[in-house]
Amino acid sequence: MDIEKEKCCKCGKWFRVIEITTLFGGNKMREEITCPYCKAENGAIMTNGKVTTEAIEPQQNI
Ligand SMILES: [Zn+2]
Repeated sequence: MDIEKEKCCKCGKWFRVIEITTLFGGNKMREEITCPYCKAENGAIMTNGKVTTEAIEPQQNI
């Protein structure tokens, strides 16, 4: 599992991008990164797993 921070190109808020990879290998697919706040597309990554995004609470220290 891979976690990255991204800033939305539309609303400018930070969110987490979590890549959940499986052990199956398989073909890499294009998975869109969708802002959890405004649902804007923030590009895509190639992964053989799944990509999910999570809002970062303002008071959370990361
Ligand atoms: Zn956004």
